[in-house]
Amino acid sequence: MFLFQLNQTISSLKNIGPAKLTLFEGLGITTIYDLLTFYPRKYKNKKELVSVKESLQKKIPSNTKICIIKSEFIGNRYKKDLKLFAVETSSNTPIAIPLFGRGFLQDKYMAGAEFYLYGQATQNNFEISFSSCDLEPAIVSDKSEFGHIVPVYHQKKGLTSKYVAKTISRAWSMYAQYLIDELPDYLIERDNLLSISQALKHIHFPSSFDLLEKARESLKVREIFLLYLKIQYNSRPVAIRGLVDMRSSTLDLQKKAIAGLEFELTEDQKSSLAQINSDMLSERVMYRLLQGDVGAGKTVVAFLSALLPLSLNQQVALVVPTELLARQHYQSARAFFSKLGIEVGFLTGSNSSSSRDEIFSKIEKNEINLIIGTHALFGDRLKYANLKYVIIDEQQKFGVEQRDAIQKKGENPDILLMSATPIPRTLALAFYSDLNISEIRQKPEGRLTIKTHLALHENSHKVYDFVEQQLQLGRQAYFVYPLIRDSAAKSLKSASTMFSHLQSAVFPGRRLALVHSELPEEEKELAMEEFSQGKVDILVATSVLEVGIDNKNASCIVIEDAQQFGLSSLHQLRGRVGRGKYQSYAFLIYSEDLTDSGKQRILAMKESCDGFKLAEEDLKIRGFGEIDGKKQSGLSSFTLTDLQKDIKMLRIIKEEVSALLENTNDKHLELLLSNKEYFSNVLVTY
Ligand code: ADP
Ligand code: MG
Repeated sequence: MFLFQLNQTISSLKNIGPAKLTLFEGLGITTIYDLLTFYPRKYKNKKELVSVKESLQKKIPSNTKICIIKSEFIGNRYKKDLKLFAVETSSNTPIAIPLFGRGFLQDKYMAGAEFYLYGQATQNNFEISFSSCDLEPAIVSDKSEFGHIVPVYHQKKGLTSKYVAKTISRAWSMYAQYLIDELPDYLIERDNLLSISQALKHIHFPSSFDLLEKARESLKVREIFLLYLKIQYNSRPVAIRGLVDMRSSTLDLQKKAIAGLEFELTEDQKSSLAQINSDMLSERVMYRLLQGDVGAGKTVVAFLSALLPLSLNQQVALVVPTELLARQHYQSARAFFSKLGIEVGFLTGSNSSSSRDEIFSKIEKNEINLIIGTHALFGDRLKYANLKYVIIDEQQKFGVEQRDAIQKKGENPDILLMSATPIPRTLALAFYSDLNISEIRQKPEGRLTIKTHLALHENSHKVYDFVEQQLQLGRQAYFVYPLIRDSAAKSLKSASTMFSHLQSAVFPGRRLALVHSELPEEEKELAMEEFSQGKVDILVATSVLEVGIDNKNASCIVIEDAQQFGLSSLHQLRGRVGRGKYQSYAFLIYSEDLTDSGKQRILAMKESCDGFKLAEEDLKIRGFGEIDGKKQSGLSSFTLTDLQKDIKMLRIIKEEVSALLENTNDKHLELLLSNKEYFSNVLVTY
């Protein structure tokens, strides 16, 4: 669905003032589009009558009419709590309803008053009671929820589900008529789907469960349709470049380097390398994704593969998302390549202008063949003499345009994307059936599995004690926080505050250092450097740690307010430890008031250390809607229970999209493609 107005902020709605605006923001809602696609978490069935007896038997919420017999104060807390005694009008079944903190409402519950009741009945020895339920005066009114299927939204303090519903309803009445459907009419008709406005109406305010199901299906189809369209629109046909100038020496350098490694490559590393070699020597340009968990050893595979073009005097660029990671790769690259007599260049935003000019000129003259750096590597002014191979590490951190920009620096260069956040197999096959994927699943030998523990905030001192024991053994530790500094809006721990606290109150005799993205580059580097050299015991940080830093002596990572991090971030962070020979530990500290998905994420982390499994799990938790990285875009509030069924749907839609794209004169398609915003932000440019 799209239209211009959808990007308008919700402040255009009458009932949204500044205070409400902030509250909605807290739910991830800023635009009309966000609002209309903020789907209910669940529904209350207040439509069908369910008697108290049925509620007990079937363990489903009761939905019935009751008549009050009497009400009494209970407990001794200044008449704060009330207990209602009532009967179900249809059956005369006696029931009891405790109402805590509602003593002041006694007048409302006078004998003889009738109410609609919705809630789960429980039976104890003496009575049938409802520990929590909705009560609504049984009078005829437009506002009544009784007789309807009621949507339940995620809510926040100051922003009830009811208010969210009201706001959505208002937005729908104002904007539904302007919605433009991304699905072509013939598809809607053929598959008997709901129009976009009807689908939205019935996902929020279904008049029956059948319609709700249909709305859900209809929206799913659209979401996937659009995702495919984006992916295929961004894809290019495979380029053919003719056979590679294959000299007998091409693989020699690689063989020599393998022989010189201080470890034996794992089988998965060997097979991945063989796949890459064969791609690079074929006449088709390589487009391959190398997936492997943190620490699986992707870097060495990338380095080894670079030796093919390097031995032909061609240029290789290794692009990484952060300065930190660039430096680290640069260091290991120098150790690796200097033995082979190959110079390594380094280029990031932090190069001085004179060193930048020098490197620019060397690259342009083919005096440096291997260059490592950040997005500076595809800056406008930089020209490559002979760029034949582009390696993009942590590829998910780069946007489509960026990946395009670097590719265009050469003439059909081979591309190797690397990622430690795997695309789940199921999904990869459905979406990217043409993408070549190599996987390193097996960890290098001798790695111990990281032990993951969960702890509530109030038990964090126990975790700190454990860390202290590890420090006494000579190990080092990371502490990670979701915020840089304390925020008035969120009651979360921050790196800056905790840094001071840990230093002064918890680990007074230890050396601590702090890193986060707002510190000057030199300060960050110094902290990292000292941590690597063992001069610092504890590194306190934000998620900047996610990629980069490699310290084999670090054995503990403590992630506080862990529920705030996404599953892939958590997994990446955990991968900072367990890189050496020591048993390592990850502690996820969380607070009581977890969201469902926060809880699922933390439990998934405890369950598994396998990035591939976690990626599948993440998909289940988030649903397909978030795959393209956009929060709340579509299906995110659905948990996909039947992945197989959905995959089948994916395949069918994929064919439709291909057919549509072939007919480029299609008016509908033109309209879609003209909406630029939809075509950025795709996971893989394929
Ligand atoms: P990632 O896949 O996360 O990029 P790295 O390439 O950084 O992993 O590898 C992690 C560590 O494992 C590095 O210190 C590397 O030298 C080491 N390593 C890589 N392959 C092997 C292997 N086959 N045996 C032992 N150690 C290895
Ligand atoms: Mg890596």
